[in-house]
Amino acid sequence: MTASVIDGKAFAATVRSKVAAHVARLKTDHNITPGLAVVLVGEDPASQVYVRSKGKMTVEVGMKSFEHKLDVETSETDLLALIDTLNNDPEVHGILVQLPLPDHLDSDLVINSIDPAKDVDGFHISNVGLLGTGQKSMVPCTPLGCLMMLRDHHGSLSGKNAVVIGRSNIVGKPMAQLLLNDSCTVTIAHSRTADLPGVVRQADIVVAAVGRPEMVPGDWIKPGATVIDVGINRIERDGKNKLVGDVDYASCAEVAGAITPVPGGVGPMTIACLLANTVTACSRANGLVEPEGLTA
Ligand code: NAD
Repeated sequence: MTASVIDGKAFAATVRSKVAAHVARLKTDHNITPGLAVVLVGEDPASQVYVRSKGKMTVEVGMKSFEHKLDVETSETDLLALIDTLNNDPEVHGILVQLPLPDHLDSDLVINSIDPAKDVDGFHISNVGLLGTGQKSMVPCTPLGCLMMLRDHHGSLSGKNAVVIGRSNIVGKPMAQLLLNDSCTVTIAHSRTADLPGVVRQADIVVAAVGRPEMVPGDWIKPGATVIDVGINRIERDGKNKLVGDVDYASCAEVAGAITPVPGGVGPMTIACLLANTVTACSRANGLVEPEGLTA
């Protein structure tokens, strides 16, 4: 079998155009422009790249982008004061604090100071609780993107065996929760899982979110399974710098029914879902109809 490729880049473009259409409606019908504020503390090069591309894409879909770049030495008091200002700013519908924060700042405290209704990363403890109890919440962007691609590929996910490899708060746990909410039978595997290959071989859906280059080989995959590769790992191969996922693409693509590539799979969906969450947050804040197909 040769797997069909789930094209995250094309899918993300579709999501962004749906967001842009909804933004246009909000402007014309209600004179509202959704706004996303991104806060970056320090000068981590990877974070700077992410923040720049988030800002660019926010503007491209017609929303307002507010960038707050703070010195690496910024105190917790000053950062919390900025978040308080953004919480109370009616032009700001989504707030994202770029992680990781410098060590002297308490990430949990900072994230939990964001108004949950503006928490477009879905990391606030209230949103985690709402997702965990199957209620309307802001959903973390990367797992939301994976869910959208899975729903698009399969239609209903009900009754499928899903194995999520990785139990982080950012990807693994919310992913498992979303799959459970869609009536999958879900296993969360991690570094202490006994017989990981045997567990993964049971899966109709495998989501790999580990951070270990090409650790899942094709012989762990049940024939015809759908493989979603969240991993982004930089490796040196043949003297070149290469981006690879957590699954060994070549061998998995021979066995799987469908697979996401790296790059061009989950990655582009993450920013698209951030924009989707912002337009959703804006619609909810104004008591208006939410965009269709852009939420969990
Ligand atoms: P993390 O380090 O917080 O969590 C990794 C998880 O993998 C842990 O729960 C750990 O138990 C598990 N793990 C580690 N070694 C294992 C092993 N040998 N067997 C089974 N499980 C093992 O990482 P994260 O933030 O969840 O990110 C995971 C990967 O996804 C990384 O490569 C990251 O770069 C990538 N990522 C991509 C996007 C995107 O937009 N595509 C977004 C977030 C993260």
